[in-house]
Amino acid sequence: MASACPLDCPDACSLDVTVAGGRVVEVAGSHVNPITDGYICAKVRRLPEHLYGPSRMLRPGIRIGPKGEGRFRDATWDEALDLVAKRMLETRERSGGEAILPVSYGGSNGYLSQDTTDARLFYRLGASRLARTVCAAPTSRAASGLYGKMTGVVPQDYAHASLIVLWGVNPSVSGIHLIPYILEAQRRGARLVVVDPRRTRLAARADLHLALRPGTDLPVALSVIRWLFENGRADRAFLAAHAEGAEELARRASPWTAGRAAREAGIAAEDIEAFARMYAEASPAALRCGWGQERNRNGGSATAAILALPAVAGKFGVRGGGYTLSNSPAWRELNGMAAAGEPPPSTREINMNRVGEALVRRGKSGDVELLFVYNCNALATLPNQELVERGLRREDLFTVVFDPILTDTARYADVILPAATFLERTELSRGYGAVILQMAPPAAPAAGEARPNHEVFAELCRRTGVARAGDFETAEAIADAILDSSPRAAELRGSIAKTGAAYPREGAAPVQFVDAFPNTADRRVHLVPEELDRECPGGLYHYAADPGTGDPRYPLALISPATDRTISSTLGELHRAPVPVGLHPDDAASRGIADGSRVRVFNDLGSVRCRAHVDPDLRPGVAFLPKGIWSHNTDSGTTANALAPDTLADLGGGACFNDARVEVEPAESP
Ligand code: SF4
Repeated sequence: MASACPLDCPDACSLDVTVAGGRVVEVAGSHVNPITDGYICAKVRRLPEHLYGPSRMLRPGIRIGPKGEGRFRDATWDEALDLVAKRMLETRERSGGEAILPVSYGGSNGYLSQDTTDARLFYRLGASRLARTVCAAPTSRAASGLYGKMTGVVPQDYAHASLIVLWGVNPSVSGIHLIPYILEAQRRGARLVVVDPRRTRLAARADLHLALRPGTDLPVALSVIRWLFENGRADRAFLAAHAEGAEELARRASPWTAGRAAREAGIAAEDIEAFARMYAEASPAALRCGWGQERNRNGGSATAAILALPAVAGKFGVRGGGYTLSNSPAWRELNGMAAAGEPPPSTREINMNRVGEALVRRGKSGDVELLFVYNCNALATLPNQELVERGLRREDLFTVVFDPILTDTARYADVILPAATFLERTELSRGYGAVILQMAPPAAPAAGEARPNHEVFAELCRRTGVARAGDFETAEAIADAILDSSPRAAELRGSIAKTGAAYPREGAAPVQFVDAFPNTADRRVHLVPEELDRECPGGLYHYAADPGTGDPRYPLALISPATDRTISSTLGELHRAPVPVGLHPDDAASRGIADGSRVRVFNDLGSVRCRAHVDPDLRPGVAFLPKGIWSHNTDSGTTANALAPDTLADLGGGACFNDARVEVEPAESP
């Protein structure tokens, strides 16, 4: 059975699902999406365990134990939905709609997973709105300001590059289908530069690895820009024809000599200059900018400086040249909100990174009294985990969790509702690396009594009295509304019916400045856009120093990148092994910590007890505890999120996970 993966990953694999006896028994790759090429990641091959494992929620439940214990009695859908609807109406009556907070993000990126009937329900109730900032907010603001979110280089075109730069991204664990194109380019003689605090698998086979101190991407990118201008390698003709703000960018980059940037980043100045020279000389040069560099106080400006590089050096206009960030804007012709039937209200907006604070803010007007979590494992993914947990423990907070799995967050729910996975319902989805649109019918009946998101929220609209005649409610009607928002609706439908997929107006492999152009108002690149300059504290490209400066108590920078076990936190219930904190051998030795020994990682926000992994691939001064792990992966039940501050990046209100500064000490057995 044909399907497509809508999980939070750039690749949008086309799938071949084998069903026997009404159950999914195997998930493999198909060839509908050419980059899938018949293979998929090991994570999604485990989907049958996800669908039918012991953590799957099979029917609604109502809490019978203390919050956090995860004990529920079975309930019928009618009983559970009546209770949720009643509590929503009571909350609105008592305290206003803004006392209701929906929290959703990234559990699935399919168009039918969120922003359809769910948006309609919460908008019409006048609920608080969630600013979805936990990931991609600073990068999105930077890409929007500089290029109006121009579609980027697609994965297959990396094979044409003679230089590939991977900055803040690790395709070995996220977006694995880029790897064969990188290897193909290398076989043809392409050079590879990796910018990452860790020696990742690709960094180990790179021509140059810049192992920056976390949070110092900005000065390094600015020093490369300075070098390009100073050495006559800026493409003045391109900048004059297509860009605004080149002189101002050069002025702001000018203080960042290679030596100064190198001191800040803890690398050699010669390496920055070598990178600048390689980049200036290579064509086509493809720059894959990820999300690692955005997760700190300078994340927006750092991304803007990185994205400015191909404009300054004139790398556009050739296949395999330019940059990639998120390619989801390729589908700007589709309005993902088309089925909501409602514009967002002007209710208060709560930054997702501050949900903990919003939940514990007691005794003042504006309390959150009803929390509805779906498409998201908030406890495993939001910063300041201990504050989030404290909020979830509030006896006077009514929490609903609607998810396929009994997650760490679901254990704190008053009502659990079992959600259908993407293999058990219709989904329309697009990639944000591969620019493909795919529509997939259910591959198998839903396990237990699980129901699709759109159906449950439509039912809650009815039970709260906010449904209106003519609302789109079925999967088909919702998908139609979204497809119909494109002027090419008939063409998209025809292509999906014929080939299983459709491509954006710019084509399946657009070349920047040939097929894809900036979507700014004047169609030009804005290297120092006014709106970003206003938003950044200190202005765009202003560098804020390390948050640990002057505080010797927490000398280690904690990073929490993705791994090959989970997709953000999705599938975490299958990853049962203890997860250690990585430390460089020098940092471990100076603390008397041996490989495999028990340690406590701590700062003022919280602590994590786990084992140590002495890892020479880390740079000294950096500790590593992956993102997306669950409470069962550590001795303390806390994760890297317990150590992550809820401070905000310079653009987009983004998360600052990599600004966590910690100490690690030997610990007793639990
Ligand atoms: S998570 Fe990514 S690599 Fe894995 S199947 Fe889905 S799209 Fe493909």
